[in-house]
Amino acid sequence: MASQELTCSCGHSFASEKERDYCAKCGRKVFLDPVEGRKHRLNNYYMGTLIVAVLAFVAFIFVEVVAVPILKF
Ligand SMILES: [Zn+2]
Repeated sequence: MASQELTCSCGHSFASEKERDYCAKCGRKVFLDPVEGRKHRLNNYYMGTLIVAVLAFVAFIFVEVVAVPILKF
């Protein structure tokens, strides 16, 4: 595979033979195909939402199990 020019979102451009590589300047993952980069970001967004939902659920359970009985007495 011939080396291609990858451009990071920080503005740093470098040549790479891989479809994805790490930026030497900021360490972020750089994708040759911008669609794949978007997919990756979307996946990160989905994971973040999932983590927030789990934390909210844990907080809800905590309030139900710990705080409500304490407030009753
Ligand atoms: Zn960079």
